[in-house]
Amino acid sequence: MTESKGMPDFGKIVYERPSVEQFKECVQATRLKLMSARDPEVASAALFDFEKELISFDTMVALANILHDLDTSDQFYTDEVAFCDEASATVSELCSAVYSVLLSTPCAEELKEKYGDMIFRKAQNYKETVSNEVVDDLVEESNLEMEYAQIQSEAEIEFDGKTLNLSMLMPYLESLDRDTRIRAHKALDDYYMSKKETFDEIYDKMVKVRTKIAQKLGYKNFIELGYKRMERFDYNCEDVAKFREAILKYIVPITQKIRALQKERFGYDQLMFYDLPCIFKSGNPVPTVKMEDYRKVSGDVFAAVLGAKPSFFDVLSDHGFTDLISRKGKSTGGYCMYLEEYAIPFIFMNANGTADDVATIVHEGGHAYAAIKSAEVSPFVECLSPTLETCEIHSTSMEFLTYPYMEKFYGENAQAYRELHMTQALLFLPYGCMVDEYQHIVYDNPDLTPDERHAEWKKLEEKYQPYIIYDDHPFHAMGGAWMKKDHIFTTPFYYIDYCLAHICSLELWDESQIDYKSALIKYNQLCECGGTETFLKILEGVGLASPFDVDTIKRLAFRTCEFLEL
Ligand code: ZN
Repeated sequence: MTESKGMPDFGKIVYERPSVEQFKECVQATRLKLMSARDPEVASAALFDFEKELISFDTMVALANILHDLDTSDQFYTDEVAFCDEASATVSELCSAVYSVLLSTPCAEELKEKYGDMIFRKAQNYKETVSNEVVDDLVEESNLEMEYAQIQSEAEIEFDGKTLNLSMLMPYLESLDRDTRIRAHKALDDYYMSKKETFDEIYDKMVKVRTKIAQKLGYKNFIELGYKRMERFDYNCEDVAKFREAILKYIVPITQKIRALQKERFGYDQLMFYDLPCIFKSGNPVPTVKMEDYRKVSGDVFAAVLGAKPSFFDVLSDHGFTDLISRKGKSTGGYCMYLEEYAIPFIFMNANGTADDVATIVHEGGHAYAAIKSAEVSPFVECLSPTLETCEIHSTSMEFLTYPYMEKFYGENAQAYRELHMTQALLFLPYGCMVDEYQHIVYDNPDLTPDERHAEWKKLEEKYQPYIIYDDHPFHAMGGAWMKKDHIFTTPFYYIDYCLAHICSLELWDESQIDYKSALIKYNQLCECGGTETFLKILEGVGLASPFDVDTIKRLAFRTCEFLEL
């Protein structure tokens, strides 16, 4: 997406069901050529034919998902997503077949020389995470994920005479009026309580099938496979455990201070769980611009940060590649999905008039910007974007780098927004670690009953969120809050990536306070290198510290306290 002239409008892109048969034929031809190729040119040509098929398949899958999420009541795309999910399991297996031949092709060394070894590392990893023995289990896993997502998107919560979806209930959960907050939280907890049996059953099946897949592939448990799936090339679960310890030691005390001050500000006897989202006594700052103007103002903010008008965001919006505002029938959540064939990202989200809106726009905007910057970094689509913790630095850093321009969204409340955002970043770190540790416990003990899992969550809350005081709603008494986190269901072990990315982004923020230009240069370098290197190598290359370095966490804890005057 380098210029807007030749860029298609999103609405003009036509979805066509991808052909698994065609993909299979291409894979067979590629395998044959790779097996015998002594000439790297011949091998490259075969690989690029395969890449073309893969790109076309991925693009249609992405398109089906976006079109489904824009209107979940459209049965056609619900069916197409189901088809794509099933086809993706087959395609994964076929890719694995290509990668295993690539690893042993006679001209492997020449190819490595020419294109770098990242594609080989990925191929090796892929080979170790998928095999034809587990294809049926992968389909089952994906169906369970789909089932969970469908239930969540269809959630209807009755509140104040209105029927709301989960995103639309959000503003009430952080309402300045305590009574409204209490009722909104009760409505939400009632909803989850009514789904308890269903979600327990879905998750139990997920844990079992994932464990089965891992064991079939020769792993002790799903933790090992989960790390492989996340392509953790240069750190392991011991590093992550140490990271969580450091957060517990240096960040949890800050969050306790934040909560104590919050309680003081409100003058409550007890700061209850339903009070937590409401950080400021005068209410959390909301954007002073109307939701209809989000597109334009976002374009201006990105132009200011990156120094070019129109910004990439303006171009995306002008061509229909952004859908920002929540409405009934739209799927929940927010994401940036890359349409490989067009080299254009699509930004999907559910703005609802809260402070969260702006952070989400700049977050997804950061993903989109990085995707555009690295569109040509490798001939292999597999190496365009880095592993997910690095992708989350692209997005989270953008949240911090846009700080100086927040007046455009918040007017005179901009400083309140910055303080709120920083506060939330700090509160998030222990929460994210808790979500991560929970999954380690669950997959380390796959035979826990649903009730035992809830009890584990409760213990973790006491450790990472010692300030939480619940009422007597049965949902909390049992430790059910983890059910609200879709990542636990749909993307196991993803969550810690956000925490790692937060630390790296805070480091960039810290630098931007002293020298904005130099922080921006590092940010651009980070985006430009795409997926050509592993996480820690990328950080080293652009001059950022590893988030596993405890001293860095300690220093940033200090710097953020200074910023918030704690
Ligand atoms: Zn993200």
